[in-house]
Amino acid sequence: MKTFDATEVRRSYADPLVERLREEGSLCVGRLSILMPMNFGFCWGVDRALAMVEEARQEKQNRPMWLLSSIIHNPFVNKDLREKGIRFLNGPLAEGNAQPALGPDDVVFIPAFSAEVEEMARLEEEGVTIVDTTCPWVIKPHKRTEKYIREGFTVVIHGTVGHDETRATCSLVEASGGKYVVVHDLEEAESLARAIEESSSAKDLRANLHAEAFSSSFDIQNDLTRIGIINQTTMLATESRAIGDRLKAAILCRDGEAGLEGAFRDFDTICRATQDNQDAAGKVVKESPDVFVVVGGWDSSNTRNLARVGDGGGVPAFHIEGPECVDDAIRHRDRSSGEIIETENWLPPEGAIKVAFSAGASTPDTILGKVVRRIVEMAGERLPSDLDGSGTSV
Ligand code: SF4
Repeated sequence: MKTFDATEVRRSYADPLVERLREEGSLCVGRLSILMPMNFGFCWGVDRALAMVEEARQEKQNRPMWLLSSIIHNPFVNKDLREKGIRFLNGPLAEGNAQPALGPDDVVFIPAFSAEVEEMARLEEEGVTIVDTTCPWVIKPHKRTEKYIREGFTVVIHGTVGHDETRATCSLVEASGGKYVVVHDLEEAESLARAIEESSSAKDLRANLHAEAFSSSFDIQNDLTRIGIINQTTMLATESRAIGDRLKAAILCRDGEAGLEGAFRDFDTICRATQDNQDAAGKVVKESPDVFVVVGGWDSSNTRNLARVGDGGGVPAFHIEGPECVDDAIRHRDRSSGEIIETENWLPPEGAIKVAFSAGASTPDTILGKVVRRIVEMAGERLPSDLDGSGTSV
């Protein structure tokens, strides 16, 4: 596999304050103690995708360049690419509703989380030059999906209906003639488990899951005979394991020990970066900070799940998108409703405070650095002069 040099990518999004925090793990600024986990921010797959875009820009200058949709789930990075002249075919940064006619002169980037089978076929038909930045970690569940289908298993996806990666996986299942059902969390998995255990609970399954959680012509009575589980790469790893255990118990209940081997498969497809970031966040939350701030795009699945890491420890966790979210009230994503809400009095006004941070795999250090500086300012403190300027490109 070709390797890409991400040095320039890292340099263009570098921030001296974040570098210092990455090296030292903590920093005291007056009454404020800042805690940083061992792993956070840009992952290998994001580095690679952005380096591939940069390389194509250098090699294919003067050719029209398009992104199929967001390259990664971070609005600042996507806007940055648009400012460099790359246009968007879909999503909030697309111009107008009509799809432009593309041809051999056009270059189209496939995002790190892959694309639907039909979209890829359309692009190939149009004869465009495809630069596929799909992360190899995303290909892992695709390969496992195809194996399950070959062996006659229905694919159970622990993922989010509508998320780009899960949409791509679902389209692969349909195109391969398989069946799938998507469960978002343990609660939905419980509903699926009950439908497996007692056929009388099958009717509740449709009601409890998202309307688009099932493949076309999914038959609950027949399509749950043999199931194989995969995960969207960025889900909460502890929840994925609990879902695997619950569904295994359901098959055991229905088919007994003798039937398990023939009816159940489970394969962990959470990516390494997601796992490392969640493990590191778990450790920092154990240090009992007053607040846990997680920075990343609203639609970034791995950021959403990082913010859930603090739930068990009872630490108030806020998923925010950038420095503009930080004020007397903090603007953040509510984890149960998904709404963007504001919370007042989120930062103790006086006395010693400990704030832990993390950032999603698609969050540039420049944005995290701006958030940390804003919170230092909100706490009424000042950073040393070598760390207080942004010096950033986004
Ligand atoms: S979060 Fe994981 S799957 Fe997604 S781009 Fe990064 S390494 Fe790849």
